[in-house]
Amino acid sequence: MHEVSLAEGILKTVTEIAKTQNAQRITTIYLKIGKLSGIAQDPLEFAFEAISRDSIAQNAKLVFEVPQIVLQCTKCNVDVKTKNFPAPCPKCGSTCVQIKSGFEFEILSMEIE
Ligand SMILES: [Zn+2]
Repeated sequence: MHEVSLAEGILKTVTEIAKTQNAQRITTIYLKIGKLSGIAQDPLEFAFEAISRDSIAQNAKLVFEVPQIVLQCTKCNVDVKTKNFPAPCPKCGSTCVQIKSGFEFEILSMEIE
């Protein structure tokens, strides 16, 4: 269900942008999804495909960019870029880390015809 409402949000946004550009069709949508956002790509694609049927974005391809997670060590304040979470600080080994980024969800850009 979560993915369906996200897909609806994406469709609404891209449709509005496409209208202002006089586009006939949306071919590709680029999305940024943080690893910790809890958003799964497959269900999102599936939901988007279902709700975009007969819309300007029908058959549009979703392209996902997954940025690295950025943590900050609370002991030595060093920023840690990691693909995994949780991860200890590489400098002091502390596991007291704060999440600085990883929850992103953004529409980056799109291609239209
Ligand atoms: Zn540290």
